[in-house]
Amino acid sequence: MSTAIYPGSFDPVTLGHLNIIRRAAACFDKLIVCVMINSKKTGMFTPEERVELLRRSTERFTNVEVDFSNELLAAYAKRRKAHVVVKGLRAVSDFEQEVQMAVINRKLNPRLETMFLASSDKYTYLSSTIVKEMARYGANLREFVPCEIVDDVNRRMREMEGKEG
Ligand code: ADP
Repeated sequence: MSTAIYPGSFDPVTLGHLNIIRRAAACFDKLIVCVMINSKKTGMFTPEERVELLRRSTERFTNVEVDFSNELLAAYAKRRKAHVVVKGLRAVSDFEQEVQMAVINRKLNPRLETMFLASSDKYTYLSSTIVKEMARYGANLREFVPCEIVDDVNRRMREMEGKEG
C-alpha cells in the first residue's frame, strides 16, 4: 500500500491546502494529513482544533486520515510506514526551504522521498497568514477557507480581537 504524508501547520486549513490534499489523495492509496506541532509557535487554533477543522473539511475523501505529531517528520513517517512526503509549492520563495527540508529528511530516513505539487494558480497567493489578515478585516472568507470552517475562523478572530481590545 502506498502511503504519503502531507505535513504542515494548517492554522487554519485553506483552500490551497485542500487543493493539494485532493490532488495528492488521488495519487496514493492513503494520505495522512499531519498537523506538525511547533511548541515555540502559538497559533490561532490549538493543534487539536486544527485537526478537527481538517477532519471536517476532508470528510468526503475516504482515503485521507488526519493526525497530529510533535515528532520529527522523518521519525513520524517511519512509524506510520509512509515513504513519501507531499509538499505544495506556491512560488520560488517556497522552494529553497522546502528543498533543504527534503534533503535533511532523506538523510534522517533514507527511504523517505519528498514530492512537490505545484499550487493551482488561483491559490498561489494563499496562506494561513493571509487568511488571518482577511479575517481581521472582516473579509468574506469563502474564497479562502473550506466553507465548513468559515464560521469557526470568524468566531475565533472575534474572540482574539476581544481579548486584545
Ligand atoms: P502556510 O504557509 O499556509 O502557513 P503550512 O505551513 O500549513 O502553510 O503549509 C503546509 C504545506 O502546504 C506546505 O507544503 C506549503 O507549501 C503548502 N501550501 C500552503 N499553502 C498552499 C497553497 N495555497 N497552495 C499550495 N500549497 C500550499
